[in-house]
Amino acid sequence: MDTHSGATPLNIAVIGTGISGLAASWLLARRHQVTIYEKDDRIGGHTNTVTVDTPDGDIAVDTGFIVFNGANYPNLVALFDHLGVATQPSNMSFSASLDGGRFEYAGTSLGGLFAQPANLLRPRMWSMLRDVMRFYREAPADAGQSAREITLGDYLETGGYGRAFINDHLLPMGAAIWSTPVQDMLDYPLEAFVRFCNNHGLLQLKDRPAWRTVTGGSREYVKAITAPFADRILLNTAVVSVRRDNDSVIIEDRQGERRRFDHVVIASHADQARLVVTAVSESGERSAPIRAAVRSFITQVHQEISAAQGTGYLRDDVDPEQAADQIVTLLLGYFSLAPVLGRAGRRPSSDAWIRSTGDLVARSLGW
Ligand SMILES: Cc1cc2nc3c(=O)[nH]c(=O)nc-3n(C[C@H](O)[C@H](O)[C@H](O)COP(=O)(O)OP(=O)(O)OC[C@H]3O[C@@H](n4cnc5c(N)ncnc54)[C@H](O)[C@@H]3O)c2cc1C
Repeated sequence: MDTHSGATPLNIAVIGTGISGLAASWLLARRHQVTIYEKDDRIGGHTNTVTVDTPDGDIAVDTGFIVFNGANYPNLVALFDHLGVATQPSNMSFSASLDGGRFEYAGTSLGGLFAQPANLLRPRMWSMLRDVMRFYREAPADAGQSAREITLGDYLETGGYGRAFINDHLLPMGAAIWSTPVQDMLDYPLEAFVRFCNNHGLLQLKDRPAWRTVTGGSREYVKAITAPFADRILLNTAVVSVRRDNDSVIIEDRQGERRRFDHVVIASHADQARLVVTAVSESGERSAPIRAAVRSFITQVHQEISAAQGTGYLRDDVDPEQAADQIVTLLLGYFSLAPVLGRAGRRPSSDAWIRSTGDLVARSLGW
């Protein structure tokens, strides 16, 4: 974004109401006119608090963002202080209950590890603990030296880590932190996994960070941060296209409304952003070779869909420019995804990919 030193407020769009979009909006709204797009019917993105009715009264339960700490979140802490958001101590501990409760432990203390006295005699417990210590000791250095694309699964296998450590500890812990299926953790890049664990003090037994949580649930910070611009948030308004011309940004929403802005902040996830950002050159013109390639690609996708479904046709009212934009975006997505899929041994065949891309394009255009 250009540095704007003039006194005239700019007209700025923000896409997304997660913490990224809200923090950007909060800062920008002090001097500029902001319009915030949110595809959902609520504000907050991954910050979401639900009220649970219990015999002891209502309890606010965070189903997304829950905890933070001073060491890793200095800006968030400063923002909460500035907004007067009350917080309280919390913890981030890990416990596991496996095999229908026959094997259980908590990582909080020796008492937790051996809460089931039988754990003292279980080889799987001792094997797990031995590998935990080894992983803490070796993984940070190994991850620093390893090729960036090595996965957690490859590393554990090459290093000869035991099943007990992998299945009883590391994968369940990773799955809990990343809210992801256990087996998917094996595909996680080692370097990113270890960096996260290291930053959050998970690879050390002592001096772990002091975790805190927002009193009343994280919705309380959402209320405080949106107070100055709540009336500028458009809920249920998914952005479907962001395009630039010479002096402005044109945003089109799912309802078909187009608005012009001086700038846009895209605060959605990268894959979501790819689907809306139109591939244009700096001058605002799509180059002729790309256009030609895209046209031939549309034809190919169209033929593939026809062949696969026997029913494919290109509707007359589909804007080929819009279709071209979506396909360029998907192509870009494929090229950046391909190395990852390749590493995981899952590179799709071009035919399968063309079909799935065609399906995606068709869906995104509402065919
Ligand atoms: C279950 C869970 C627990 C977590 N716990 C913690 C925790 O305890 N501590 C921690 O630090 N982190 C935690 N995280 C991670 C943290 O919540 C996220 O990193 C952070 O909230 C992401 O914020 P964001 O603004 O980048 O994205 P999001 O919060 O995902 O916001 C993106 C927003 O963009 C909107 N959007 C996307 N596309 C469009 C479009 N085309 N048009 C309009 N709107 C669009 C989405 O609807 C969404 O509201 C957790 C995450 C999850 C899922």
